[in-house]
Amino acid sequence: MAYDFDLFVIGAGSGGVRAARFAAGFGAKVAVAESRYLGGTCVNVGCVPKKLLVYGAHVADELEQAAGFGWTLEEGHFDWGTLIANKNREIERLNGIYRNLLVNSGVTLLQGHARITGANEVEVEGQRYSAANILIATGGWPQVPDIPGKELAITSNEAFYLKQLPRRVLVVGGGYIAVEFAGIFQGLGADTTLLYRGDLFLRGFDGSVRTHLKEELEKRGLNLQFNADIQRIDKLEDGSLKATLKDGRELVADCVFYATGRRPMLDNLGLENTGVELDERGYIRVDEQYQTTAPSILAIGDVIGRVQLTPVALAEGMAVARRLFKPEQYRTVDYQNIPTAVFSQPPIGTVGLTEEQALAVGHKVQIFESRFRAMKLTLTDIQEKTLMKLVVDADTDKVLGCHMVGPDAGEIIQGLGIALKAGATKQQFDETIGVHPTAAEEFVTMRTVTR
Ligand code: FAD
Ligand code: NDP
Repeated sequence: MAYDFDLFVIGAGSGGVRAARFAAGFGAKVAVAESRYLGGTCVNVGCVPKKLLVYGAHVADELEQAAGFGWTLEEGHFDWGTLIANKNREIERLNGIYRNLLVNSGVTLLQGHARITGANEVEVEGQRYSAANILIATGGWPQVPDIPGKELAITSNEAFYLKQLPRRVLVVGGGYIAVEFAGIFQGLGADTTLLYRGDLFLRGFDGSVRTHLKEELEKRGLNLQFNADIQRIDKLEDGSLKATLKDGRELVADCVFYATGRRPMLDNLGLENTGVELDERGYIRVDEQYQTTAPSILAIGDVIGRVQLTPVALAEGMAVARRLFKPEQYRTVDYQNIPTAVFSQPPIGTVGLTEEQALAVGHKVQIFESRFRAMKLTLTDIQEKTLMKLVVDADTDKVLGCHMVGPDAGEIIQGLGIALKAGATKQQFDETIGVHPTAAEEFVTMRTVTR
């Protein structure tokens, strides 16, 4: 049977655009439907605008350090409206680039919500299209617990478009987004409190990293409240918000920001017309080649709930394009040793196993840990410490994990990701000549076993 398209991609986000462009490049006839914004979460309400706001907040650090280097600055003034307007302009530029990328690779771009109406059929804006393969790349959406007053809270989606910087903010959650936005709000001058339901935030990250970041954030004056959970939110007469915690405490703020995880975006997608099954967590179930339980339908990215990071969605999109249209170049995605950064202030960079994970899977480990005050701070009064840590297998000498909290951690950890992928040993780290003077050289000069 002749189909309208070889591949119909639903969602022009990180994964969908990558799969569509490469499939078209391999000679396939491809359509992409996008209901909201080209580039998806990452470009519009994720990685990119977030990083721009992080840069904005970081300027406060540079200003604080300036005096030590002899600069006298007049009192600075921050204008949220300017930052958001400039950010919006950049996002619009990127939207245009994504449009050109797709159109120039020969992809048919359809604007509107896509709904699957059969194993090989998708409907967009009342028009039906047939396709040999359908790829679901619809991403995720913020999830707020069902408490009274939840409609008074905002999520990352709204935070990027706030008309003004709130004076007092309660950030709820202890994952990537909560920690990053707490740093943004506080860095830009808001009185910020982070509330996390457990004992210590960033569950799943290395224990030393979690403790170190907690200490550094407290030094900066961020109000960290652990074992704290909001029971209800009420609006007060003056327009501010009162959060009543489960332990009875009441906190008043101008903004309550929830970052309590994301659910797969499956709204009105028409899965009931297909044999696509969900896993026990509600994400689309796929096999190792991103095939759903319906033979003609595949899924990638946040909607399959494996690793919710843009470079992972890109790699999965690439794998699908190759598998379908260039099988001789197909390679599976390696989910081991994925480097990642949390753009907190200071940031975290991490790759490989945490100390806790290494022990749990039975490694006998040697830990190398270093805490130091970065050279840049020695002419200032700032007492911030950088943490670097290596988790090494005591039997094979293989480096299992590298972890860092400190300036440029994301930039530094990218290179170490290659070393871990190549299976580097601690001896090879030791034999690598450092770049002097940098903070990064500490990763190749740690000689004494800490534990
Ligand atoms: P998305 O990029 O979400 O794209 C899905 C697209 O599908 C959307 O454009 C949506 O409008 C569209 N869509 C949904 N349903 C339909 C439908 N029925 N019809 C048509 N279109 C539809 N990752 C990093 O690696 N680094 C970071 O620094 C980082 N920061 C982040 C910060 C925030 C605040 C958030 C929320 C996420 C961040 N992420 C980051 C995660 C990253 O954004 C996601 O992992 C990535 O965007 C997932 O890509 P995707 O292709 O699966 O989905
Ligand atoms: P995460 O899954 O990272 O964190 C969710 C947090 O919310 C956890 O601390 C969790 O606690 C807490 N939580 C969950 N449910 C509730 C609840 N009902 N009440 C109170 N707290 C709750 O999600 P995020 O929203 O921060 O981010 C989503 C994903 O996006 C990330 O996992 C990451 O993959 C990606 N991302 C990546 C970034 C980067 O690369 N720099 C930046 C931002 C996002 P607990 O641990 O106890 O379950």
